[in-house]
Amino acid sequence: MAGVEPSPGEDTPPVPEVLHSAFHEGPFPRCLVCGADLTDPGTFYQIQKTWRRGEVVFEMAICAECAVDQVREFSRESLEKMQAFFRERYRGDGGLEQCHFCGRGLSPDGEYEIGAFCRGAFLARPPVVVCAECAAAAQEDLSRKTRDAWGRFIEENLPGVPKEMEPDSVPFTF
Ligand SMILES: [Zn+2]
Ligand SMILES: [Zn+2]
Repeated sequence: MAGVEPSPGEDTPPVPEVLHSAFHEGPFPRCLVCGADLTDPGTFYQIQKTWRRGEVVFEMAICAECAVDQVREFSRESLEKMQAFFRERYRGDGGLEQCHFCGRGLSPDGEYEIGAFCRGAFLARPPVVVCAECAAAAQEDLSRKTRDAWGRFIEENLPGVPKEMEPDSVPFTF
């Protein structure tokens, strides 16, 4: 998430398969925005995937530099609100089976997303799991500027995707 410095340990685990690209059927190969090689062991990047009723409806991987550029488009107030929300509600890493903010178990019929900060083939930090309810609550009162910036980002980089989603309602976990 925004403002958190990467601090990979010496023995970080590899990126789990659940965070591989459904589209590429393997690890995300490159940054969605600039095309940077994400398999490079020195490259930091952010993965975000959303499941709905067991199906991946949204996925993306962007390098840390592009993520920072994107976050600059968001209003400061929105970012602070969202960071505060996640900071205050974070209950710790409960594995990949439950929301890390409300503790509810993930339902295979429900919607949830997993975000992770990675470096090459490895996790730079433990993945973060957010259920749809918590993601919606975090984004409830984001500014129009931030919603528009995010909607533009999705439209420019993911034309036609995700299906059934309004661009500016795609949850984000920068
Ligand atoms: Zn990039
Ligand atoms: Zn939740």
